[in-house]
Amino acid sequence: MPHPVDYQAVLDQIHGEVQPLLGRGRVASYIPELAKVPGNQFGMAVVTLDGSVHSCGDAREAFSIQSVSKLFALTLAYQCVGDALWERVGREPSGSAFNSLVQLESELGKPRNPFINAGALVVTDVLCTRFVNPETALVEFVRRLSGNATLQYDDRVARSELATGFRNRAMAHFMRSFGNLVNPVDDVMDAYCRHCAIRMDAVDLARAVAFLAHGGVNPWSGEVIVDASSAKRLSALMLTCGTYDAAGDFAYRVGIPAKSGVGGGIVGHIPGRLGVCVWSPELEPSGNSLAGSVALERFTTLTGQSLF
Ligand code: GLU
Repeated sequence: MPHPVDYQAVLDQIHGEVQPLLGRGRVASYIPELAKVPGNQFGMAVVTLDGSVHSCGDAREAFSIQSVSKLFALTLAYQCVGDALWERVGREPSGSAFNSLVQLESELGKPRNPFINAGALVVTDVLCTRFVNPETALVEFVRRLSGNATLQYDDRVARSELATGFRNRAMAHFMRSFGNLVNPVDDVMDAYCRHCAIRMDAVDLARAVAFLAHGGVNPWSGEVIVDASSAKRLSALMLTCGTYDAAGDFAYRVGIPAKSGVGGGIVGHIPGRLGVCVWSPELEPSGNSLAGSVALERFTTLTGQSLF
């Protein structure tokens, strides 16, 4: 691929290549509202640090960002309490399911990392302590990151998860029994389900993650979100823990820091170059978007750009 890369041509090629994959995965159904999303959609967006936007397919279709919100929640909590966060959450891949309770027992209520559900609940607890309305604080934060002041969470999705999130509630109670959750479980669950229910499209998400590709600084507003060292650390966590229990395989195949969600979105970035987001709601068994994972693998292959 000659340089400079023609990102639009790459995205158009990928859009064609993934078509046979649509219909091969399964839309998440354990949150009833998510089961209603038509599976055969695909969109991808790349935003380079000079602000150029390239996109294909359903890149302007808003979807439930789910665990992608854990990246933004972590960033905001890290802004608030810095390294003190690591007294309550680890930084190692878990090697078990994103919603597993098993390790919490033997590890005395300290979750392995901030991207599994237990870790994200502790992060949300930090936000509940810091903000009167933590979910509003997070939506406003993501609005600033993306430059889209109209972003909202989807109340139906949040209520759907609140009504069925028995495992997450169990984890929250369990961590509270170890003293690693200080706010009432209902408050933490409420804020958690709402931030998971934020709706965004691929273009806005590619913009929202670009600060990590730019040393922690929002490339367009100039706002310092985190310092360069923290941007490196957040990106390292994405690489090692951001794509469920398949993070090793994902790093092998794709080679960029990324965070995925059960809504089918995956965000990632290439330091010094761009933010990227792909969305396709059908998942592979790991929980990552099936077509989305392939699309990102093809993207780093076709452009010759990755971390490595
Ligand atoms: N809100 C979802 C849950 O807690 C997020 C899961 C995900 O996207 O990984 O189950």
